[in-house]
Amino acid sequence: MKVDLLIIGAGAAGLSAALGAWEAGCRSILIADRRSHPGGILEQCIHHGFGADLTGPEYAAMLFSQIQKTGAELRMETEVLSISPSREAVLSSGAGLERVRFSHLILAAGCRERPLGALNITGTRPDGVCTAGQAQEMMNLHDRDPGERILILGSGDLGMIVARRCVLRGKQVIAILEQAERCTGLAKNYHSCVEAHSIPLWTRTTVTELHGEPRLTGVTVRELDSGAERFVPCDTLLLATGLIPEQTLVSNLGTPPWLHLVGNCNRVHDLVDSAAHEARIIGSEIIKKA
Ligand SMILES: Cc1cc2nc3c(=O)[nH]c(=O)nc-3n(C[C@H](O)[C@H](O)[C@H](O)COP(=O)(O)OP(=O)(O)OC[C@H]3O[C@@H](n4cnc5c(N)ncnc54)[C@H](O)[C@@H]3O)c2cc1C
Repeated sequence: MKVDLLIIGAGAAGLSAALGAWEAGCRSILIADRRSHPGGILEQCIHHGFGADLTGPEYAAMLFSQIQKTGAELRMETEVLSISPSREAVLSSGAGLERVRFSHLILAAGCRERPLGALNITGTRPDGVCTAGQAQEMMNLHDRDPGERILILGSGDLGMIVARRCVLRGKQVIAILEQAERCTGLAKNYHSCVEAHSIPLWTRTTVTELHGEPRLTGVTVRELDSGAERFVPCDTLLLATGLIPEQTLVSNLGTPPWLHLVGNCNRVHDLVDSAAHEARIIGSEIIKKA
């Protein structure tokens, strides 16, 4: 198969890039995504605050309805395994492997969360420790709780939003821990999540050690200014310690003129409108220049 434009990722950025390219006149667009529904991370973000105060799934549905009016082909449950310098991608789906040749490639693969292994935390490796995004998916898509007595490491937007979600599900959020002097996420999320639900925010603190086996029983918390440490009992630690643009697929390709990165795989966007707007412009410009 050969297409003018292959887009990897059907999140807000990938769908917006396709809309931009279609409006600019591109009539051969294939969007591939490994998930079963379009929207990417939006699917698990059931809170309001996307675009004109939509929920994440509502925002995804709005983009999807626009895509359906175009002739862009959307293939879900289709993972892109590799990209070659000769402009060929290998796609894997239930139908098997397929090679797709393309003129332009837009990578809209989103970002990944920094895992426990990348942090300087010693001790046991018990159940009850996961990333904030995994906990969000657990609660919002599978109606399961990550735990009962919860500490959250990191006060960015994801940490604060997941803290509120835990409280709304009746869980005790003991505190959000933050190594900086103040919360690092958007002010609107601080007000609506932390302040509004009286969630303690411990600044200039971090977690240095995990305790418990097989389940977490507590963590060692260090005050960064004094160096003092104390044991804090909890059964769950959620890691909201940073999002890393997902560029693995193209890391060996250099910067060929046919390759374009949009959305969170280019740089992490706090607001979906920003990711969508940038992607739409890039989608239209690469076709105009071609
Ligand atoms: C927890 C959280 C809360 C947020 N809250 C808000 C908010 O309140 N308001 C707001 O405006 N913005 C919010 N944002 C920001 C906004 O949602 C994101 O910036 C935006 O949705 C990112 O879109 P994206 O398309 O770049 O990435 P994603 O949505 O992550 O999409 C990437 C897609 O690429 C696919 N993919 C990756 N690799 C492959 C591969 N090899 N093959 C096939 N498919 C692949 C993935 O399956 C995924 O569907 C929030 C973000 C997060 C994480």
